[in-house]
Amino acid sequence: MSLPTLVNNIRQKTVNQWMERWNDSEKGRDFYSVQPKRNTCRYKTLTRRQQVQISRLKFHHFPCQKYLHRFNLAGDSVCTLCNEEDETVEHIILKCTALESARTFRTTENLTEALGNRDNQWSTIDNIIMERGVQIRTRARDAGGMDQHQ
Ligand SMILES: [Zn+2]
Repeated sequence: MSLPTLVNNIRQKTVNQWMERWNDSEKGRDFYSVQPKRNTCRYKTLTRRQQVQISRLKFHHFPCQKYLHRFNLAGDSVCTLCNEEDETVEHIILKCTALESARTFRTTENLTEALGNRDNQWSTIDNIIMERGVQIRTRARDAGGMDQHQ
């Protein structure tokens, strides 16, 4: 057996062992629901801010209403943009009707596919997050929630 073949076999065996532990683990299941397989995505084309954003979304550590409510930082967990259902990462990325114009991929896709390995969706997801921020700030300003006289 040649050295490159041996190295490749060891690498593949290690990956397989890691995958078995990841599949059987009870920890990190929110993240597992989004990324059941090893990440082969290349982040090189993304800015540092985009990379952080994507990681937060995958770990569900994103300040959506459900997350804020869980830590008593919001009165309830309902989406403040559409008021139709709990605001979760999945709701923001796939379902919120107030963010439809920023969404360019098929909404039948699940979160795993949307946050998956296709580089061409990162900019769309980034646009959705940016649009959500703009809408929240605009609505807060219009409701007098932010002091504009400073
Ligand atoms: Zn919504």
